[in-house]
Amino acid sequence: MIRKSIKQISDMISIKNDITPFVDLIVEGVTIDSRKIEKGNLFVPFKGENVDGHKYVEAAIAKGAAAALWQSDVPNPPAHLPILLVDNCLLALQELAREYRHELPVKVVGITGSNGKTTTKDMTAGLLSVQYKVQKTEGNFNNEIGLPLTVLGLDRDTEIAVLEMGMSAIGEIEFLTKLACPDAIVITNIGESHLLDLGSREAIAEAKLEILLGLANGGLAVINGDEPLLMDRLQEHQGTIHFETFGRKDTNDVFPTEIQQLGQGNRFKINASNESFQLPVLGTHNILNAMAAMLIAKHFAIPYEKMNDGLAQIKLTHMRMELVEGKHGEKIINDAYNASPTSMLAATDLVSDLQGYGRKILVLGDMLELGAEEEQYHYKIGTGLHADKIDLLFTYGALGEQIAKGARSVLGEQRVFAFTDKAGLIRELKQHLDAQTLVLVKASRGMKLEEIVTALQK
Ligand code: ATP
Ligand code: MG
Repeated sequence: MIRKSIKQISDMISIKNDITPFVDLIVEGVTIDSRKIEKGNLFVPFKGENVDGHKYVEAAIAKGAAAALWQSDVPNPPAHLPILLVDNCLLALQELAREYRHELPVKVVGITGSNGKTTTKDMTAGLLSVQYKVQKTEGNFNNEIGLPLTVLGLDRDTEIAVLEMGMSAIGEIEFLTKLACPDAIVITNIGESHLLDLGSREAIAEAKLEILLGLANGGLAVINGDEPLLMDRLQEHQGTIHFETFGRKDTNDVFPTEIQQLGQGNRFKINASNESFQLPVLGTHNILNAMAAMLIAKHFAIPYEKMNDGLAQIKLTHMRMELVEGKHGEKIINDAYNASPTSMLAATDLVSDLQGYGRKILVLGDMLELGAEEEQYHYKIGTGLHADKIDLLFTYGALGEQIAKGARSVLGEQRVFAFTDKAGLIRELKQHLDAQTLVLVKASRGMKLEEIVTALQK
């Protein structure tokens, strides 16, 4: 993590008060959460809508913070404490991270896309760890606050940092990529998340492509080559940007030539190597994420023969295709972290393809923020199911009802249960579970379907 004297910090960001008494103080690490202060931290308070972090500055310093920022429009900065007065705390945090990034010899990998950023980030870090000292974004710290904090958490001897970049509006990825200046980037795919904010899939593609604006000269762009919206736009950059593609289609630089879905993950081969890869993660869409990660690892001179070591130690972040067991011995795929039409289809396809279960049940809830065509998107998930591959469907929520409506035409009335209350759903679902059952649980974050998983485990 960053380690600087107050004097050095004052050379990196512009400070408006006299800090002479404190210039030799050493700051180690930065935090925005006063409950998580560690000794020597710089505490950065934000003026939120509900809480004003400045209220916790004194407590933070009492708990061991070496110093704190203070936004100049907040009255009464405590004069006796090591306070650094700035125009705006968020901007100062970002500026500090930008300066720090430029000091570090670290190579940066930036990862964006509609689905699979966190997964690809975890996989990339796992592969690179075989040969390098790697740090990565913790959890989902991928926005204008999380990314600077991640950068400020980088150690001097870290060789590669793998950073997730998320967005909900045009311009956000541009900001993040220009701060992080990646040496290599990945665009996992273009889906429908944020359709409501951005209006079209074209606009979403445009927003993700902003990541190229911060890419170092001669850097590598790893792109999902199955997505025409990305490929068309890349033609314009032909010759100026080095890019490599991955995807299911055999026109890509890397594509799978053999896929075997196993109970706990996948075994697969790719065109570019004779190696047989073992991926301890469910779902063939995760082979796509893995191939993107492998192209990055290859760029950093890790040979394909060494990649199984890296793949073996991949640990995904909680609630992404997490396989857990319920009280009746049923296997539950907890994918309750989030959902969009693309990821919903990937998940229902996975359950359709998995074999060796006596009964397969989908528990699907609303996919939020899809805009005007939200009902259509849900209905289509329902009509896309196959009667011989899925036994029962449970839906939760008002939009979930549209999935049910679509599904009744393929599964029939008897096999579809639509609920708007979780307790009712759980009661009915429990009637259908045994050790031979597989259950998929998935919806948008706001639906909190993990409560269903927890209930099945009790
Ligand atoms: P967020 O925008 O919330 O940060 P993310 O892009 O980081 O999401 P992950 O957390 O890696 O995505 O995965 C979220 C869900 O998306 C997974 O549980 C899975 O269902 C689905 N998913 C992951 N990768 C893909 C993919 N390549 N294609 C389609 N769906 C995917
Ligand atoms: Mg994420």
